[in-house]
Amino acid sequence: MPGATDPWDVARRRVAQQAHYLRNALEPAPGVCYVCRGPAGAEWTRCYTCDQHLRAAQALAADAVVPISYAVKGRQHAHALAAYKAKFPAREIQTNLLNLLLLFLTDHHGCVAKVARVQQWTHAAVVPSTRGRTGEHPLRTLIGTQLRFPWAQLTANAEIPPESRAFHYDRFFVTTNDLGGAQVLLLDDTWTTGARVQSASYALKRAGAARVAAIVLGRHVNPGYDGWKPILELIKNEPYRQETCAVHV
Ligand SMILES: [Zn+2]
Ligand SMILES: [Zn+2]
Repeated sequence: MPGATDPWDVARRRVAQQAHYLRNALEPAPGVCYVCRGPAGAEWTRCYTCDQHLRAAQALAADAVVPISYAVKGRQHAHALAAYKAKFPAREIQTNLLNLLLLFLTDHHGCVAKVARVQQWTHAAVVPSTRGRTGEHPLRTLIGTQLRFPWAQLTANAEIPPESRAFHYDRFFVTTNDLGGAQVLLLDDTWTTGARVQSASYALKRAGAARVAAIVLGRHVNPGYDGWKPILELIKNEPYRQETCAVHV
Protein backbone atom coordinates (compact mmCIF):
# COMPACT_ATOMS: atom_id res chain seq x y z
CA MET A 1 0.00 0.00 0.00
CA PRO A 2 1.58 3.33 -0.99
CA GLY A 3 2.66 5.39 2.00
CA ALA A 4 2.03 2.58 4.44
CA THR A 5 5.72 2.46 5.35
CA ASP A 6 5.87 6.14 6.34
CA PRO A 7 5.30 6.28 10.10
CA TRP A 8 4.37 9.94 9.69
CA ASP A 9 1.62 9.26 7.20
CA VAL A 10 -1.18 10.02 9.65
CA ALA A 11 0.53 13.18 10.87
CA ARG A 12 1.10 14.33 7.29
CA ARG A 13 -2.58 13.98 6.54
CA ARG A 14 -3.47 15.79 9.77
CA VAL A 15 -1.23 18.70 8.86
CA ALA A 16 -2.48 18.71 5.25
CA GLN A 17 -5.97 19.25 6.63
CA GLN A 18 -4.70 22.43 8.33
CA ALA A 19 -2.93 23.74 5.22
CA HIS A 20 -5.78 26.02 4.19
CA TYR A 21 -5.28 28.22 7.25
CA LEU A 22 -1.59 27.74 8.03
CA ARG A 23 0.96 29.94 6.25
CA ASN A 24 4.70 29.33 5.87
CA ALA A 25 6.96 32.09 7.09
CA LEU A 26 8.28 34.23 4.24
CA GLU A 27 11.94 34.25 3.26
CA PRO A 28 13.93 37.11 4.76
CA ALA A 29 14.03 40.10 2.40
CA PRO A 30 13.97 43.87 2.61
CA GLY A 31 10.71 44.50 4.43
CA VAL A 32 10.64 41.02 6.05
CA CYS A 33 12.64 40.65 9.27
CA TYR A 34 15.19 37.83 9.00
CA VAL A 35 14.68 37.02 12.69
CA CYS A 36 10.91 36.97 13.24
CA ARG A 37 9.62 37.21 9.63
CA GLY A 38 7.42 40.13 10.61
CA PRO A 39 7.39 43.51 8.90
CA ALA A 40 10.60 45.51 8.79
CA GLY A 41 10.92 48.94 7.20
CA ALA A 42 10.91 48.73 3.41
CA GLU A 43 14.69 48.78 3.15
CA TRP A 44 15.51 46.91 6.33
CA THR A 45 16.15 43.24 6.89
CA ARG A 46 15.34 43.23 10.55
CA CYS A 47 12.52 44.86 12.47
CA TYR A 48 12.90 47.48 15.15
CA THR A 49 11.85 45.11 17.96
CA CYS A 50 14.26 42.32 16.99
CA ASP A 51 16.97 44.93 16.58
CA GLN A 52 16.40 46.11 20.16
CA HIS A 53 16.46 42.56 21.49
CA LEU A 54 19.62 41.63 19.61
CA ARG A 55 21.38 44.75 20.86
CA ALA A 56 20.39 43.86 24.42
CA ALA A 57 21.06 40.12 24.34
CA GLN A 58 24.01 40.16 21.91
CA ALA A 59 25.51 36.68 21.59
CA LEU A 60 23.07 35.34 24.15
CA ALA A 61 20.12 35.87 21.80
CA ALA A 62 18.70 32.80 20.08
CA ASP A 63 20.96 31.48 17.31
CA ALA A 64 17.90 30.83 15.17
CA VAL A 65 14.25 31.77 15.30
CA VAL A 66 12.00 29.55 13.24
CA PRO A 67 8.28 30.25 13.02
CA ILE A 68 6.39 27.23 11.71
CA SER A 69 3.44 29.30 10.49
CA TYR A 70 1.99 32.78 10.70
CA ALA A 71 -0.94 33.05 13.10
CA VAL A 72 -3.27 35.84 11.99
CA LYS A 73 -5.21 37.39 14.84
CA GLY A 74 -8.84 36.30 14.74
CA ARG A 75 -8.14 33.39 12.39
CA GLN A 76 -8.02 29.68 13.00
CA HIS A 77 -4.36 29.07 13.87
CA ALA A 78 -4.29 32.00 16.32
CA HIS A 79 -7.48 30.64 17.82
CA ALA A 80 -5.99 27.17 18.20
CA LEU A 81 -2.85 28.56 19.86
CA ALA A 82 -5.00 30.25 22.49
CA ALA A 83 -7.59 27.49 22.83
CA TYR A 84 -5.16 24.63 23.46
CA LYS A 85 -4.29 26.31 26.75
CA ALA A 86 -7.89 26.33 27.99
CA LYS A 87 -8.77 24.35 31.08
CA PHE A 88 -10.58 21.74 28.99
CA PRO A 89 -9.10 22.07 25.51
CA ALA A 90 -10.70 20.39 22.54
CA ARG A 91 -8.88 17.16 21.67
CA GLU A 92 -9.00 18.07 17.99
CA ILE A 93 -7.07 21.29 18.53
CA GLN A 94 -4.44 19.53 20.63
CA THR A 95 -3.99 16.76 18.08
CA ASN A 96 -3.64 19.28 15.25
CA LEU A 97 -0.97 21.31 17.02
CA LEU A 98 0.95 18.29 18.25
CA ASN A 99 1.06 16.77 14.78
CA LEU A 100 2.11 20.08 13.28
CA LEU A 101 4.99 20.43 15.73
CA LEU A 102 6.22 16.84 15.70
CA LEU A 103 6.09 16.54 11.94
CA PHE A 104 7.93 19.84 11.61
CA LEU A 105 10.64 18.62 13.99
CA THR A 106 10.94 15.35 12.11
CA ASP A 107 11.22 16.94 8.70
CA HIS A 108 13.13 20.13 9.50
CA HIS A 109 15.20 19.71 12.68
CA GLY A 110 18.24 19.38 10.44
CA CYS A 111 17.51 22.73 8.77
CA VAL A 112 17.16 24.40 12.16
CA ALA A 113 20.31 22.75 13.48
CA LYS A 114 22.28 23.85 10.44
CA VAL A 115 21.31 27.51 10.67
CA ALA A 116 21.84 27.55 14.46
CA ARG A 117 25.14 25.63 14.13
CA VAL A 118 23.88 22.90 16.42
CA GLN A 119 25.78 19.62 16.14
CA GLN A 120 23.45 17.60 18.29
CA TRP A 121 20.42 18.64 20.32
CA THR A 122 20.97 17.94 24.00
CA HIS A 123 17.91 19.52 25.62
CA ALA A 124 14.45 20.84 24.91
CA ALA A 125 12.84 23.72 26.79
CA VAL A 126 9.60 25.64 26.69
CA VAL A 127 9.34 29.36 27.35
CA PRO A 128 7.50 29.55 30.68
CA SER A 129 4.16 31.20 30.98
CA THR A 130 4.44 34.64 32.55
CA ARG A 131 0.74 34.94 33.31
CA GLY A 132 0.79 33.43 36.75
CA ARG A 133 -0.11 29.98 35.53
CA THR A 134 1.10 27.31 37.90
CA GLY A 135 2.12 23.78 37.06
CA GLU A 136 3.49 22.41 33.85
CA HIS A 137 3.31 24.56 30.72
CA PRO A 138 0.52 23.42 28.36
CA LEU A 139 2.99 23.06 25.48
CA ARG A 140 5.15 20.74 27.53
CA THR A 141 2.08 18.79 28.61
CA LEU A 142 1.04 18.53 24.97
CA ILE A 143 4.44 17.19 23.91
CA GLY A 144 4.61 14.80 26.85
CA THR A 145 7.32 12.21 26.31
CA GLN A 146 7.50 12.58 22.53
CA LEU A 147 10.97 14.14 22.45
CA ARG A 148 14.06 12.06 23.08
CA PHE A 149 16.14 14.56 25.05
CA PRO A 150 15.79 15.90 28.59
CA TRP A 151 14.03 19.15 29.40
CA ALA A 152 15.90 22.21 30.58
CA GLN A 153 13.69 23.93 33.11
CA LEU A 154 13.08 27.69 33.10
CA THR A 155 11.13 29.59 35.75
CA ALA A 156 9.62 33.05 35.38
CA ASN A 157 10.77 35.86 37.65
CA ALA A 158 7.64 36.84 39.59
CA GLU A 159 8.92 40.38 40.04
CA ILE A 160 8.58 41.24 36.36
CA PRO A 161 5.04 42.25 35.37
CA PRO A 162 3.59 39.47 33.18
CA GLU A 163 2.24 41.99 30.68
CA SER A 164 5.71 43.40 30.01
CA ARG A 165 6.61 43.09 26.35
CA ALA A 166 10.21 44.09 26.87
CA PHE A 167 13.36 42.02 26.92
CA HIS A 168 14.62 41.42 30.46
CA TYR A 169 17.99 39.98 31.45
CA ASP A 170 16.41 38.42 34.53
CA ARG A 171 12.98 37.51 33.24
CA PHE A 172 13.64 33.78 33.58
CA PHE A 173 15.82 31.61 35.77
CA VAL A 174 17.23 28.29 34.75
CA THR A 175 16.69 25.61 37.37
CA THR A 176 18.40 22.74 35.54
CA ASN A 177 22.02 22.03 36.41
CA ASP A 178 24.80 21.11 34.03
CA LEU A 179 23.73 23.06 30.96
CA GLY A 180 27.38 23.68 30.07
CA GLY A 181 27.72 23.35 26.30
CA ALA A 182 24.05 22.44 25.92
CA GLN A 183 22.39 22.75 22.51
CA VAL A 184 18.81 23.63 23.26
CA LEU A 185 15.65 23.38 21.22
CA LEU A 186 13.54 26.17 22.70
CA LEU A 187 9.83 25.86 21.97
CA ASP A 188 7.01 28.35 22.30
CA ASP A 189 3.47 28.56 21.03
CA THR A 190 3.24 32.18 19.89
CA TRP A 191 5.83 34.81 18.98
CA THR A 192 4.40 38.29 19.40
CA THR A 193 7.31 40.61 20.17
CA GLY A 194 9.86 37.86 20.77
CA ALA A 195 10.87 39.40 24.10
CA ARG A 196 10.00 36.27 26.05
CA VAL A 197 11.84 33.93 23.69
CA GLN A 198 14.95 36.13 23.66
CA SER A 199 14.85 36.53 27.44
CA ALA A 200 14.63 32.72 27.72
CA SER A 201 17.53 32.26 25.32
CA TYR A 202 19.56 34.75 27.34
CA ALA A 203 18.84 32.83 30.57
CA LEU A 204 19.74 29.48 28.98
CA LYS A 205 23.01 30.75 27.58
CA ARG A 206 23.93 32.51 30.78
CA ALA A 207 23.44 29.13 32.46
CA GLY A 208 25.97 27.66 30.07
CA ALA A 209 24.04 26.66 26.95
CA ALA A 210 26.20 26.96 23.86
CA ARG A 211 23.38 27.09 21.32
CA VAL A 212 19.70 27.94 21.47
CA ALA A 213 17.33 27.55 18.53
CA ALA A 214 13.76 28.73 18.96
CA ILE A 215 10.87 27.13 17.12
CA VAL A 216 7.47 28.77 17.48
CA LEU A 217 4.16 27.35 16.32
CA GLY A 218 2.76 30.72 15.37
CA ARG A 219 4.22 34.09 14.38
CA HIS A 220 1.44 36.40 15.54
CA VAL A 221 0.07 38.71 12.85
CA ASN A 222 -1.96 41.78 13.66
CA PRO A 223 -3.90 42.55 10.49
CA GLY A 224 -5.01 45.88 11.97
CA TYR A 225 -1.44 47.17 11.73
CA ASP A 226 -0.63 48.62 8.33
CA GLY A 227 2.93 47.30 8.43
CA TRP A 228 1.60 43.76 8.01
CA LYS A 229 -0.32 44.52 4.79
CA PRO A 230 2.46 43.65 2.30
CA ILE A 231 3.14 40.33 4.08
CA LEU A 232 -0.55 39.48 4.33
CA GLU A 233 -0.90 40.16 0.63
CA LEU A 234 1.94 37.75 -0.16
CA ILE A 235 0.67 34.91 2.00
CA LYS A 236 -3.07 35.13 1.54
CA ASN A 237 -3.33 32.57 -1.27
CA GLU A 238 -0.42 30.36 -0.24
CA PRO A 239 -1.59 27.28 1.67
CA TYR A 240 0.94 25.71 4.01
CA ARG A 241 3.58 23.44 2.47
CA GLN A 242 5.07 20.77 4.72
CA GLU A 243 8.09 20.20 2.53
CA THR A 244 9.72 23.54 3.32
CA CYS A 245 10.47 25.68 6.36
CA ALA A 246 11.61 29.17 7.29
CA VAL A 247 15.27 28.06 7.23
CA HIS A 248 15.02 25.24 4.74
CA VAL A 249 18.21 23.60 3.55
ZN1 LIG B 1 11.77 40.87 13.80
ZN1 LIG C 1 13.45 22.74 6.37
